[in-house]
Amino acid sequence: MQVLSSYVCGRWIAGSGAAQTLVNPATEEALATASSEGVDLAAALAFARNTGGPALRALSFAERGGLLQGMADALQEARDELLALNMANGGNTRSDAKFDVDGAIATLLAYAELGAALGAGRFLLDGEGIQLGRSPRFHGQHLCVPRHGVAVHVNAFNFPAWGLAEKASAALLAGMPVLSKPATATAMAAHRAMQVIVEAKVLPEGALQMLVGAPRDLPALLGAQDVLAFTGSGETGARIRALPNIVRHSVRMNVEADSLNAAVLGPDVAHRSDMYELFLKEVLRDITQKAGQKCTAIRRVLVPAEILGAVREDLVEMLGATTVGDPADEETRMGPLASEAQMKDVLSGIEKLNAEGRRLGGQPGRLSEKGFFVSPTLFEIENGNAVHEHEVFGPVASLIPYADNPAAIVARGNGGLVCSVYSEDAAFIEEAVAGIAPWHGRIYLGHPKVELSPGPGTVLPQLVHGGPGRAGGGEELGARRALSFYLQRVALQGSRPVVQALAKGGAA
Ligand code: NAP
Repeated sequence: MQVLSSYVCGRWIAGSGAAQTLVNPATEEALATASSEGVDLAAALAFARNTGGPALRALSFAERGGLLQGMADALQEARDELLALNMANGGNTRSDAKFDVDGAIATLLAYAELGAALGAGRFLLDGEGIQLGRSPRFHGQHLCVPRHGVAVHVNAFNFPAWGLAEKASAALLAGMPVLSKPATATAMAAHRAMQVIVEAKVLPEGALQMLVGAPRDLPALLGAQDVLAFTGSGETGARIRALPNIVRHSVRMNVEADSLNAAVLGPDVAHRSDMYELFLKEVLRDITQKAGQKCTAIRRVLVPAEILGAVREDLVEMLGATTVGDPADEETRMGPLASEAQMKDVLSGIEKLNAEGRRLGGQPGRLSEKGFFVSPTLFEIENGNAVHEHEVFGPVASLIPYADNPAAIVARGNGGLVCSVYSEDAAFIEEAVAGIAPWHGRIYLGHPKVELSPGPGTVLPQLVHGGPGRAGGGEELGARRALSFYLQRVALQGSRPVVQALAKGGAA
């Protein structure tokens, strides 16, 4: 069986002690083990701060962009292998696996391009220079410079390759070295991605390291110049946030957590219209893609009460036709959940929804003795609390009828990553967006004329990803905006020629 090692201090180190076993969630076959015991975490952090950081800061944005291009090329070469690992270790269908791996490559390329556009600068100018007094001699300028610490990235199990790439591209482009920790249960693709990046020798020593296995006390070792980007459950995020060193040293932290994303069908949308079909297609995709294990997946489906019957009938039929099975089988449209713990969590979440609504489709319980399969499940819930408060991280969604003001119902999710609106009525869209926007990081306006729309579930590198409240209050990506998390904004003030000379090397 394969033993997954960590890549720290310029070499691969296999952990000692009790290891976690990684399995194929469709067959429960053991595939690999991973342990981080014995890996010197403090040494890894010091190696990043003292070796990786200075090497990255010596490069221009264009040169750092070149590093990302090199990483993308290396992953592209290993694409088929990475897809196969996600299918075996993540329960992904081939299409689910592409979503992760191609998403990783596309994100690296988008930030490589941004690096080229930012050019020869090594830090960013933030806005124009400002005259500060009556005399033009007193001048100010905001600059954003890379922090001198390490960027620790903790990722969730659902996107092993994309999680690694989307966080690393922003940090490396900004000039900060990275220690990445994939979720252990599905770490095989992330581990292989790291191997191919190391083998390609595209990065300076210490720029990118990977800890495979339990996090141990990693967050407790961070200091004032370090940053921590965490993706996972709100509960873990909250626990890390409260660590004494995180509070004492004001360690900058970004949290991407749970979200009860909603889709809202407008009252103007007629049954069987193009807009209606788009809405159905995107709701179905979000319930079944990656077996619903997407932080952006639609969990609450808000429809006008008058059209509820038609939507119910259509969705139940479409979900019933979804072939659930081993992703190794070509007929399979939806694979298993990623782990046994994940399956137990989803089944208990289904029970919570069962207590406040009506199950419309999907077989109860585990689908087979072997493998972590559950069927796509739809509820109808008129009045409930769990439906707005408990994220069931699996192929489960709830239909919620509304009479008016769907935005008020959406807001009961207490902060989300994305909300989608399907309507062609400009007044309805305007009112819905005004009510939904304060609670969300992103709003997706569905339209059948937008060709090849990836739907609300796809996070694009050009736009920000994150959301307020329950969603963690974080923000990632968004092109140039992605860099700010890794940069310290400093206000320079002084004599105009001196300030202007210092600002000269910055990218506008
Ligand atoms: P989790 O248990 O919180 O684990 C997430 C990551 O945190 C894993 O890498 C885990 O490592 C690590 N971890 C656990 N305890 C830690 C600690 N004390 N210190 C540092 N790291 C720690 O979350 P999950 O249940 O696997 O993931 C599913 C959740 O992630 C869902 O709620 C989903 O909504 C959320 N998610 C959010 C986004 C987003 O972008 N907003 C994206 C994807 C998923 P081990 O695996 O080694 O335990």
